[in-house]
Amino acid sequence: MTTFAELGLAPDILRALDEMGYVSPTPIQEQVIPLALHGGDILGAAQTGTGKTAAFALPLIQRLLPHANTSTSPAKHPIRALILTPTRELAIQVEEAIQAYTRHVPLRSLVVYGGVNINTQIPILKTGVEILVATPGRLLDHVQNKTLLLNQVNTLVLDEADRMLDMGFMPDLKRIVALLPAQRVNMMFSATFPEEIRKLADSILNTPTFIEVARNETAVTVTQVVHPVHHERKRQLLAHLIKSRDLRQVLVFTGTKLGCNRLANELNKAGIHADAIHGDKTQQERIKALDAFKAGTIRVL
Ligand code: AMP
Repeated sequence: MTTFAELGLAPDILRALDEMGYVSPTPIQEQVIPLALHGGDILGAAQTGTGKTAAFALPLIQRLLPHANTSTSPAKHPIRALILTPTRELAIQVEEAIQAYTRHVPLRSLVVYGGVNINTQIPILKTGVEILVATPGRLLDHVQNKTLLLNQVNTLVLDEADRMLDMGFMPDLKRIVALLPAQRVNMMFSATFPEEIRKLADSILNTPTFIEVARNETAVTVTQVVHPVHHERKRQLLAHLIKSRDLRQVLVFTGTKLGCNRLANELNKAGIHADAIHGDKTQQERIKALDAFKAGTIRVL
C-alpha cells in the first residue's frame, strides 16, 4: 500500500492529513499527486467521492510552499492558484478542504461565490490570498470591480468541468482563462467527456496526462433498495420508513423545486423535522439548512 509520504508530500502537509485521519491515498490521488507535483497538466476523469479534491489540492499547496509567508503585506500574498467550480456548495466544500490541508502552512485561501453580498468578500481579498476558490460569475464580478488581480496565477483547476458546461459557464470560463498568465499548470476534472469538454481541454491544457479512475462503485456498507409505490402514497411511505426505522439523517432528492418544498412541509406535518434546499432558496437559507443537517438538528434534507 502506497503512503502519502511516498508520493512525495511535505511533512507539514502529511501532518494535516494524519490529523484528518487520511491513512492512504485513493487511486486518483496516487496517480495525480506525483504528476502534479512535477507540474504536469492533468485531465482527470473522476467523480465526487473519489478523493479528487485532495488529488489536485495537495500538490497545488505543495508547489506554493516556497511562497508561503506570514507577512502582513498584501503584496506578499497574490492569488497564485485559482480553482473554479460550477456550484457554490462545491466551492465552499473545496475551500474547506484546502483550509484543513493548509492548517500547518502560512498559505491563505478564500472562497468567493454569488448570491451573497460582494462587499463582504472585498476586505479579505484586499489582505491577500494565495488560493482562491470561485464560481465563474462572481469571479468575473470581482475582476470587473478590480477587487482582484489574476496576473500571478500559476495554477488553474477546473473542477466538474462538464457541470460548468451544463450550467452555461463556457463563455465566462473563456473570459477568465484569457486573463491568466500563459505560463501555468492546468488541471481539469470532469465526470463525462462530451465533444465540447474535449475541445475545452484542448484549448486550456498543455499536453495533459489523462487519468481515469474506475467509476464509483457503491460502498460495501451501502444497501440499495427499491420500493415500488403509487405516486400518491410516496410521501406517506417515506414518512413511514423514516419513523419505523428511526432514520436520523436522511438525504432525499426530488424531481422539482416545488415537489421539494411540498415534501419538506409534509414531513414536518408528520412530525419529522425536515428542510428543503434548491436553486430558489437564498444562499443564506441553503447554508443554514446544510449546517443544521450536518449538526443533526434537522433530520431530513
Ligand atoms: P472528494 O471526492 O474529493 O469530494 O472526497 C470525498 C471525501 O473523501 C471527502 O470527505 C474527503 O475528505 C475524503 N477523502 C479524500 N481522500 C481521502 C483519503 N485518502 N483518505 C480518507 N478520506 C479521504
